[in-house]
Amino acid sequence: MDEQLALHLQGLTKSYGKTPALRGVDLDVLRGEIFGFLGPNGAGKTTTIRCLLDLIRPDGGTARVLGLDPQADTVAVRRRVGYLPGELSLEANLTAERVLRGLGELRERRPDWATVRALAERLQLDLHTPVKNLSKGNKQKVGVVQALMGRPELLLLDEPTSGLDPLMQQEVYRLLREAQVDGATVFFSSHIISEVEAIAERVAIIRGGRIVSTLAPSDLRRLAVRRVRVRFGEPVDAVALAVVRGVTRLDGDGVGGRMTDVTLQVEGDMDPLVKALAAFPVSDLETERPSLEEIFLTLYADE
Ligand code: ATP
Repeated sequence: MDEQLALHLQGLTKSYGKTPALRGVDLDVLRGEIFGFLGPNGAGKTTTIRCLLDLIRPDGGTARVLGLDPQADTVAVRRRVGYLPGELSLEANLTAERVLRGLGELRERRPDWATVRALAERLQLDLHTPVKNLSKGNKQKVGVVQALMGRPELLLLDEPTSGLDPLMQQEVYRLLREAQVDGATVFFSSHIISEVEAIAERVAIIRGGRIVSTLAPSDLRRLAVRRVRVRFGEPVDAVALAVVRGVTRLDGDGVGGRMTDVTLQVEGDMDPLVKALAAFPVSDLETERPSLEEIFLTLYADE
């Protein structure tokens, strides 16, 4: 296997009874990259990640993790990977500290406790609380800390920011970028476009158990599309907004070219549009991101 690859999946298939979950997943993740695995509920993200750790066995195809076969070298893979499951089950009666110390024993690089404490502080996690008394978000933080501690070569994270408030999500993004600077490869699943776009360098989109698209940084802009609705305090000639950088579409009704409501489609940074709008009497502004399904339609339309 190519030394540059942290993950190499070829034709991976898996069915649960009669339900096909993976229908031939092909995927290469380079060492050192932050790779987003984006797909709607039930697309096959968790199943893929679980196959990589031999938590479930695929029916067919090949998976290599850091050059190793997870079925033949299960222990080696698990020792070298920081894994955050989608549904974390922790020993309820132990404190977060006891849980983390126990999990640390299993790691290739034994975590030093100062690092664990520093991670917990950054995530505002009290290590002395018994797990059963932690909120859902705080349990998730224990999961994030256990994945990152010991500075593993590869992080496999199933929806890492699930249940965290926006500030804590940002802190997790920072931690993942720092792990990358430290040499780690980060592979994380998500069904949230904005999250993937915020930190991933490359993205694979999975749908119905197949990779339907792999996007490079230059394509990621297409995920950053927004719909912006603007209401003006009085009818204005808004056609100039159609040529603002990033604006790919403008719709509006008006009389004699003057409009009070317009809807714009914007790709990438909002800054040029915000600056351009400063010249208009704006009474209301709403932005929304299209759903993953709408993004799929755009991708297919282009293809
Ligand atoms: P989510 O974003 O909702 O976590 P996912 O992309 O991780 O979804 P998977 O959990 O891998 O998707 O599920 C893929 C498919 O396999 C779905 O149709 C799901 O219903 C099915 N599936 C997953 N686990 C099992 C199981 N243990 N038994 C039966 N079917 C399952």
